[in-house]
Amino acid sequence: MTIRLKLQDGTMKEYPSEKGRSDQRMKCGEADCEHLECAIEQKRASSSSMRMLVTVLPVGTVITAAVVFFIAFESLKILLSAGIVAVIVIGDIFLAVTFMRTARRLEGQLRELQEFSQNKTVNGVPARQLHDSRQGS
Ligand SMILES: [Zn+2]
Repeated sequence: MTIRLKLQDGTMKEYPSEKGRSDQRMKCGEADCEHLECAIEQKRASSSSMRMLVTVLPVGTVITAAVVFFIAFESLKILLSAGIVAVIVIGDIFLAVTFMRTARRLEGQLRELQEFSQNKTVNGVPARQLHDSRQGS
């Protein structure tokens, strides 16, 4: 479920749920909810696993590239081996950039949700949470 915050200046902020699997439960035990705490917990978990992917990816790339290079080197020409490795490296750089962007976005959302939970503001602007059940109240 999406957490929606309305800022005093009229801006709407939306924080979509990061729930990956449908059988996954929120922190409170419900299948889906609008609890700020649950959303914060979820954003924290998602952004840290994204960060972990970003950290692990270069190591994986080096290992994969080395393995491919040595296997390919045995049977293929050096130029072709280098080509395959280059494709792997370029692909992983694109992946890393994507993961990094996602991690930054999640961390930004996490920061805003935490700020709202503590001060009822988003980037210093007073805000309130909108609920589906009593919309616009
Ligand atoms: Zn909840």
